[in-house]
Amino acid sequence: METLSHDIVIVGAGMAGLRAAIAAAQFDTKIDVAVISKVYPVRSHSVCAQGGTAALLREGDSHDLHSWDTVKGSDFLADQDVVEFFVKKAPEEIIALDHWGLPWSRTEDGTINQRPFGGHSFPRACFAADMTGFHEMHTLDGKAKTFDNIEFYDEWFVTSLLVQGQSVAGLTALELRTGEMAVIQAKAIIMATGGYARVYEFTTFSHTATGDGMAMAYRAGLPLKDMEFIQFHPTGMVPSGILITGGARGEGGYLVNADGERFMKRYAPEKMELAPRDIVSRAETTEIQEGRGLEGPYGSYIALDLRHIGKAKIDERLPLIRDVATKLSGVDPVEEPIPVRPAAHYSMGGIHGNMRTETPASGFFVAGECACLNVHGANRLGTNSTSDCLVFGAVAGEEAAKYARSHDFQEPSREKVAAEEKRVFDGILGSEGDETVPIIRDSLRHIMSQHVWVFRSGDGLSKALREAKKLKERFANIRIEDREKQFNTDLVGALQLDFTLDLCEVTIAGALARTESRGAHTRLDYSKRDDESWLKHTLAYCTKDGPRLEYVPVTITKWPPAARAY
Ligand SMILES: Cc1cc2nc3c(=O)[nH]c(=O)nc-3n(C[C@H](O)[C@H](O)[C@H](O)COP(=O)(O)OP(=O)(O)OC[C@H]3O[C@@H](n4cnc5c(N)ncnc54)[C@H](O)[C@@H]3O)c2cc1C
Repeated sequence: METLSHDIVIVGAGMAGLRAAIAAAQFDTKIDVAVISKVYPVRSHSVCAQGGTAALLREGDSHDLHSWDTVKGSDFLADQDVVEFFVKKAPEEIIALDHWGLPWSRTEDGTINQRPFGGHSFPRACFAADMTGFHEMHTLDGKAKTFDNIEFYDEWFVTSLLVQGQSVAGLTALELRTGEMAVIQAKAIIMATGGYARVYEFTTFSHTATGDGMAMAYRAGLPLKDMEFIQFHPTGMVPSGILITGGARGEGGYLVNADGERFMKRYAPEKMELAPRDIVSRAETTEIQEGRGLEGPYGSYIALDLRHIGKAKIDERLPLIRDVATKLSGVDPVEEPIPVRPAAHYSMGGIHGNMRTETPASGFFVAGECACLNVHGANRLGTNSTSDCLVFGAVAGEEAAKYARSHDFQEPSREKVAAEEKRVFDGILGSEGDETVPIIRDSLRHIMSQHVWVFRSGDGLSKALREAKKLKERFANIRIEDREKQFNTDLVGALQLDFTLDLCEVTIAGALARTESRGAHTRLDYSKRDDESWLKHTLAYCTKDGPRLEYVPVTITKWPPAARAY
């Protein structure tokens, strides 16, 4: 097997991975950086971000206000020292992207424009029409490609992380073109592999969002944190689940039930449609469950009405939304409301890391949606994720560069590499069972959608855990039709499914244990937030019998937990 080596290896070429690569390469031009991605960088999910990126740029806003909004939005589960750091760094990132050529939408005087967004009490979402992520990704990709010390491994699939003792030695990866496995040695590794919301049936996420990096870290002995908190976005377009940005409500859109009523007045009288996502998603679900949803061929839905915004503004600010709604739902929002309902959208949990993106394994850093650095707590505010990817991508790049300068390579363990080769080629590609990937994958998605959705209960979660464990057993008996090595998308699908089986088990176990309702985790049988017992982060460790849960405290600096009303 071929062994390659780079000082720093970044897994993931989304917003966090590309930002990390630029920071590392800039920090020391002698450091050699590799960026590995299972898809071409600009096909990473980050390119789909629409509404904007939060940062303080104007008078009237303040660090404390952005921090408070984030902490309150998180239902007090965010670590406040991390939030304060994040908020202070975010504006630098907007300016850096501006200098690198990002075409931000601007005001008449030429300054970067900002729009209102759910849960933010000041218009601080910087945007490029409704294609913010697209422009951010193309800007970062262009910038990264100007460095001689960054090498890209496009269409390589990382299968495992090699942690030895308490530090990283490298990873194993398949070159998809040939199907051959290689070992890539590194002094430092940054995991930036994104979220896993594809474990649901109705989701805004790309097919690639299968949480591979989270599962690899978990299997290598690192804890996953706060995985029970999954965000449901209020405006997934029916029937595809494709996102209608919160920016549509930021520009003034209304949510309306079958009686033509703006029902948010009963749930968040002050903020209305601009309440945080957990609150709006619960409100929509309640409206539908109580019979006030509109009925269509794909089930009940809520209407997102943009007509009063007018064609000119829709075309200027929301051109992608108009195009997508017209082509994929047959509804032109200039003339008709868009059918929407809550869709799985974001994972607040991820690999346990601190403000410097360090993890319990030295030389191993994490950034972006696969990481849980405690910024978003139990519920993320819209537009805070892309800022998070930029801020902590940059931190991870610098920290990894410092680490790589003062550490040497470790020899990857031959036994571990041999075991991984056996798992992938004999255990999965060569398996002679009779189970198939699509059947297990769809069953898993169904379980998650039935029992681990906007509203949860102890009985439902217990059932989901039993069923998920059964699916894991069935996976051992898998059969893949395509037995060739080259570009084997069946094999990739099976590897991804295997990762998601672990992640769902952790998510369900954490949700079952947490007997309270906080942020996006709503238990019908424990409907109140319980700070006495549950103001703490969940850590899940991998054991042979499933996840072992431990808890660590939340850091409070200025804002003691208070009632959360909007
Ligand atoms: C439709 C949509 C709209 C959104 N809009 C906004 C918004 O307006 N504002 C906001 O702040 N947030 C938004 N978000 C959230 C935000 O876009 C994401 O959280 C963020 O972009 C994630 O970036 P990332 O770099 O962590 O991961 P991603 O962009 O998902 O990139 C993951 C990378 O990891 C690579 N990878 C994964 N597994 C492997 C593997 N096994 N081997 C090799 N490579 C691998 C992939 O190829 C990819 O390059 C939106 C999300 C969605 C889905």
